[in-house]
Amino acid sequence: MPIRECYECDVLVIGSGAGGLSSAVTAAFEGLKVIVAEKASVFGGTTAVSGGWLWIPNTPHAEREGQAEPIEIPKLYLKNILGEKYDETKIHTYLTQAPKMVEFFEAKTEVKFNIGAAVPDFFNIEGARVGWRSIVAAPYDGRLLGQKLNILRPPIPETTLWGMGIASGADMKHFINTFNAIPSFIYATKRVLRHFFDLIFTKRSTQIVNGNALVARLLKSALDYNVKLLANHAMTELVEENGRVIGALFKTPAGIVKVIAKHGVVLATGGFPHDEKRKQALFKHVREGTPHHSAAPETNIGDGLSAAEAIGATVDQTLPWSGAWAPVSLIPRLDGTLGRFPHLVERGKPGLIAVLKNGCRFTNEGESYPLFIKDLLKNTAYSEQAHCWLICDHKFIRRYGLGAVKPFPISLGPWLDNGYLKQGHTIQELAVACDIDPVQFLKTVEQYNQYAYLGQDPEFQRGTTPYQKAQGDADHHPNPCIAPIESGPFYAVEVVPGSLGTFAGLVTDEYAQVLNKAGQPINGLFAAGNDLNSIMGGQYPSGGITLGPAMTFGYLAAKKIAEQARTETVAFTSHKQD
Ligand SMILES: Cc1cc2nc3c(=O)[nH]c(=O)nc-3n(C[C@H](O)[C@H](O)[C@H](O)COP(=O)(O)OP(=O)(O)OC[C@H]3O[C@@H](n4cnc5c(N)ncnc54)[C@H](O)[C@@H]3O)c2cc1C
Repeated sequence: MPIRECYECDVLVIGSGAGGLSSAVTAAFEGLKVIVAEKASVFGGTTAVSGGWLWIPNTPHAEREGQAEPIEIPKLYLKNILGEKYDETKIHTYLTQAPKMVEFFEAKTEVKFNIGAAVPDFFNIEGARVGWRSIVAAPYDGRLLGQKLNILRPPIPETTLWGMGIASGADMKHFINTFNAIPSFIYATKRVLRHFFDLIFTKRSTQIVNGNALVARLLKSALDYNVKLLANHAMTELVEENGRVIGALFKTPAGIVKVIAKHGVVLATGGFPHDEKRKQALFKHVREGTPHHSAAPETNIGDGLSAAEAIGATVDQTLPWSGAWAPVSLIPRLDGTLGRFPHLVERGKPGLIAVLKNGCRFTNEGESYPLFIKDLLKNTAYSEQAHCWLICDHKFIRRYGLGAVKPFPISLGPWLDNGYLKQGHTIQELAVACDIDPVQFLKTVEQYNQYAYLGQDPEFQRGTTPYQKAQGDADHHPNPCIAPIESGPFYAVEVVPGSLGTFAGLVTDEYAQVLNKAGQPINGLFAAGNDLNSIMGGQYPSGGITLGPAMTFGYLAAKKIAEQARTETVAFTSHKQD
């Protein structure tokens, strides 16, 4: 097919999530002419639907609050979890450069963060910490993007309230307590009224939070630094000349477009959460017959990995876990598509348990999302497809919601009608509705309740770590993570293995330069975000371990390209003078 159009730039960034945009903004700040090409019609990828948290010890925020820590402590924490996959060079680079990345973005761009002073690490082991290692994108006023607000990917609709995102922490607490506390009622009412105003005048929310705020802020920064943004540009192959990557070809609605980049190409296409072939190869449960449902956008099909492999790069096949596992429920939407709701919050609240088809609990429900799925896979027989049910009573669902089902006063009706939510007036009735073993299920609930009245969970020790407690409800006593399931009707939502993205990616050096099979950098080619093999070695030590590295190595890739560009310019000038 003939090439319709050709663009030239210094740096070509492919993909517009945290990895791509942080790279683009940094390169543009360094004085380079940057193009970001995005396959979807909107910018932001998975990042725009994410929680927007970054795991970074020793941020300027922690420093300012007198909460800095010796670098050896987070290193110890990571060593304990990553084991033989711990890579001192990359982890040292990350722990020393990530705070600089944050400082750069906050000083020179529209990107701003808030610190999580009480967010615990996932594991309660030596080197772990409660608080000060996590930052989250500060909420953003979408009106500051003007017309460009329309190019921002919206959050997953079912995670919002009529299209308005709810932030974790105080924001969510106010919404949960809307009908329990007057200040929360006033707070939530103001937020909702402004949202209705937005819907009338802007047609979408302008109160932007979480990962959506991170992308909004990165997009605004990119526009401020004159980055050219191309939507509907799907990269199909990289262009090489004399052993150097000099650009890429894109499929667009109007034909093939070629983009030539003088100094570097950054692959940031968000890994392979929807690449069936690579999932077969790298996800054991998929090979064994359990489908995998990622909450990442469907455009992320591993294009960056395939294009790089075609010119000699490699994808790490050795990680213990190649994806960022999370429990997901499937939502039948009115337009015929399937929504994938990631269960990151309500699982840890008091009064919910997870059971298998045999009616038994199988895990500590309040543990981190990857551990939940690991336990589900471990407890599923080889011949069966992994799935389980999240179970709660009426009191629970009206207070915390269940998956996509919102708390009081929002009606449960549509969710019961479309089959997403199962209901039973008794435990046995619910068992029948879900095809769970009724005898064992009743026994499980009775046994759970017996201890729940005392705030105990002898079977799975719920509520015994700082992470679990933080996931619970601090206002519930004696154990913030446990309450009996007793006031019918009872409810259930089916949950299946899914992910927030992928870990296995292109093998690079610590500057994010993609390496060939011989371990040498492929000239001109860099990777960022989930296209870059996770520095966490296929483990999930804490929330924020993908966005933190995505932004840091995106920033480092751009700095390396700028440094190389300066050297190339000096060499060229002195060659001319000779
Ligand atoms: C609900 C949810 C909550 C999460 N919360 C957090 C959190 O709080 N902290 C955290 O660290 N992680 C979180 N994650 C994971 C995190 O969002 C992702 O790991 C991260 O956003 C990946 O960033 P990225 O830049 O690699 O890819 P993405 O943000 O997915 O961006 C990749 C972009 O590349 C585009 N693209 C794909 N193929 C092509 C092509 N051929 N040509 C051009 N463009 C292409 C895609 O359309 C996409 O826009 C969460 C994920 C989900 C789903």
